[in-house]
Amino acid sequence: SGQFGQPIGQLANASGQLQSGVASAGRIFELLRADEQRPEPADPVRLGRVRGRIEFRDVSFRYVPERRLIENLSLVVEPGSTVAVVGPTGAGKSTLGNLLMRFYDVDGGRILLDGTDITEMTREDLRSCTGMVPQDAWVFAGTIADNIAYGREGATREDVVDAARATGLDPFIRTLPGGYDTILDEDASGISAGERQLITLARAFLADPVLLLLDEATSLVDTRTEQLVQRGMAALRAGRTTFVIAHRLSTIRHADAIVVMRDGRIAEQGGHDELIRSGGAYANLVRSQNPHPAGRSAMAGSAASA
Ligand code: ATP
Repeated sequence: SGQFGQPIGQLANASGQLQSGVASAGRIFELLRADEQRPEPADPVRLGRVRGRIEFRDVSFRYVPERRLIENLSLVVEPGSTVAVVGPTGAGKSTLGNLLMRFYDVDGGRILLDGTDITEMTREDLRSCTGMVPQDAWVFAGTIADNIAYGREGATREDVVDAARATGLDPFIRTLPGGYDTILDEDASGISAGERQLITLARAFLADPVLLLLDEATSLVDTRTEQLVQRGMAALRAGRTTFVIAHRLSTIRHADAIVVMRDGRIAEQGGHDELIRSGGAYANLVRSQNPHPAGRSAMAGSAASA
């Protein structure tokens, strides 16, 4: 019922892009335009069941010729594991996701998915196994159920409720007089930013992607919703290869690996305990930003001072 009523919905769906359809609308237009200028491989490799092992091998990249950004970056992410990417503004965190999704192509090195160079696959195949949850979650005019159902074509009400339960959105929906049939306008003016993000988490859960790109919000209004979003993200990450641009220590601590980026390079990588022991940038960051070990203090852009 009106599930793909929005032009952006039609566009994203018709193009087979961004399976979970959660990238911001303006961004999708921009990226699709860039895609039109680059041909697909003549004889693309089709992966069967995607396991979700990602390898960046000696990757270099610059957006503009004058300024190198990523240089000789190597990183392996095992299937089902979570990598928290941290670092100051401009370090290149989002760029890793842009390269992985082939919104831009690397200038040197390779990115492999299950051992296959992603340039040998079609972009559609690559993106159809990926869910993206950006900070600026978008909703379209329609019911809450429609907004969640957008994650998977043909989703039933039961699927929608399951996804909402799994991501912690269901109790909130039940507090609304209209429940799942509550109508949202395009700005979702009746709900908070955190609740909007919960909707996109449920949408991504329904899409059930093998790979996840999460951009953790730097600030959400109230603590309770923030906790719900944290839990929703944790539920979504389980069993999927996840890159999370992380701003909260609790997210970072629970990641399988932490990548500290600075100036397009990996300054440090390892597990939380390991990095604390080694006493480098990450350890300083945690010490300076988080006097309370169990706290959830925001770490937005904070590695700048590390
Ligand atoms: P933030 O925490 O602010 O999101 P980030 O670590 O994710 O930062 P990126 O978004 O990856 O950083 O950007 C890295 C650098 O590349 C920045 O200096 C940014 O201005 C530049 N950059 C990003 N996108 C483009 C683009 N499309 N064209 C040119 N330069 C870009």
